[in-house]
Amino acid sequence: MMGERTVMQEALFYEFSLERHVPSDHLLRSVDRFVDLSGLRAHLQPFYSAIGRPSIDPELMIRMLLIGYCCGIRSERRLCEEVHLNLAYRWFCRLGLEGAVPDHSTFSKNRHGRFRDSNLLRTLFETTVQSCLDAGLVGGEGFAVDASLIRADANRQRSVAGSEEVDWEAMAATRRSVREYLDTLDEAAWGAASEVTPKFVSPSDPAAQWTGAHKGHAFFAYATNYLIDLDHAVIVDVEASRAIRQAEVGAARTMLDRTLERFELYPERLAADSAYGSAEMLGWLVHERGIEPHIPVFDKSERRDGTFERADFTYDHEADAYVCPAGQELRPRQKTYRMPRPLADSDGLIRYRASTLDCAPCPLKPRCCPNTPARKVPRSVHEGARDMARAIAATDAYAISRRERKKIEMLFAHLKRILGLDRLRLRGPNGARDEFHLAAAAQNLRKLAKLIPMPEPRPA
Ligand code: SF4
Repeated sequence: MMGERTVMQEALFYEFSLERHVPSDHLLRSVDRFVDLSGLRAHLQPFYSAIGRPSIDPELMIRMLLIGYCCGIRSERRLCEEVHLNLAYRWFCRLGLEGAVPDHSTFSKNRHGRFRDSNLLRTLFETTVQSCLDAGLVGGEGFAVDASLIRADANRQRSVAGSEEVDWEAMAATRRSVREYLDTLDEAAWGAASEVTPKFVSPSDPAAQWTGAHKGHAFFAYATNYLIDLDHAVIVDVEASRAIRQAEVGAARTMLDRTLERFELYPERLAADSAYGSAEMLGWLVHERGIEPHIPVFDKSERRDGTFERADFTYDHEADAYVCPAGQELRPRQKTYRMPRPLADSDGLIRYRASTLDCAPCPLKPRCCPNTPARKVPRSVHEGARDMARAIAATDAYAISRRERKKIEMLFAHLKRILGLDRLRLRGPNGARDEFHLAAAAQNLRKLAKLIPMPEPRPA
């Protein structure tokens, strides 16, 4: 007999519990254990008026944003619809069955207002780091640093050539992203990172960098910089920067100092790729911070014309001289000037010179300095730190660090593939900061949810 759907009739009474309805193994139930927003109201209190109509609860907005970033819902309009319909999301937001979901425009207003003024999203991210510390997931002994490019919300078709004159001041009157671009021109992670004029600039988001770093089509991008603890790949700091190497290296220094200041975390070793292996960065790590650099040395001394390269000269520490393949010494400048001059040139290199009296009759001269009277070998003022990095690179500990460094790349892959953050939705340096803070907070919360098992339910 063919069955027939019964006509739906609404029941008069329901016995329904949202608490019982959300499965015990649901991601948000597990994440909820580590969402500590107890200090949020006190933190935001100075930014709300004491009189007037009550605002939307900021805790509700933060919980909704966390759902968005934990579950890869990128649009705030869609997030509002999902929270309205999904019972687990309602439970996480403490909305009950009938609680009203705020309008999507509320997020934009608060983001540009109170949230930014109070640095709320940074505080939220740091709360997740503290939760990881409390849970014992941060060893604090080995860190890794890296950056990943995230496409900006900017179009090549609407961009202008970098050399073109643009009245940014006039545009700043109507565009927030242009105002932020002008405000950050002197900051090391933004405008001051490089003096090179980019090929294209986007008028809708001029702080975004035109980059061809992915070897394919060039695009406008920001860089998200992660500093992670190598024990469980917990993100201990995050920073937005321009998508160029100098800005990323500057961001790494900022994050190391800030982690020490906020959480008193001081790593013994730092693992990174060769982008962080410049002489200045290695010198800063070794001499100023006392951190072992597990980083390949950035070395451009290799020669392809068959002549001797720097590695063919041996440095004698005691004599402070290089010894050439013919056994002659190359020494730093010996001249004395009436006005004393620094030994190192403005590029941070000391030039060690051979004597023309040695080089002129030398049979190896065609393979050493065929076009100059005598050979010069440059040595960085940070060469000691570079030598230390080279020595570390030959150890087993370095091989382990290089393997562990992949954890940071896994986090970036997760960020783009699972959390869906392969293109920014917000514009300007502040928009990039907001998105990166929320995404890193969501990744830490998911990590806590995964690594700390749910307590066993008590028997009835
Ligand atoms: S050319 Fe000068 S520096 Fe080069 S191997 Fe001969 S003596 Fe040494």
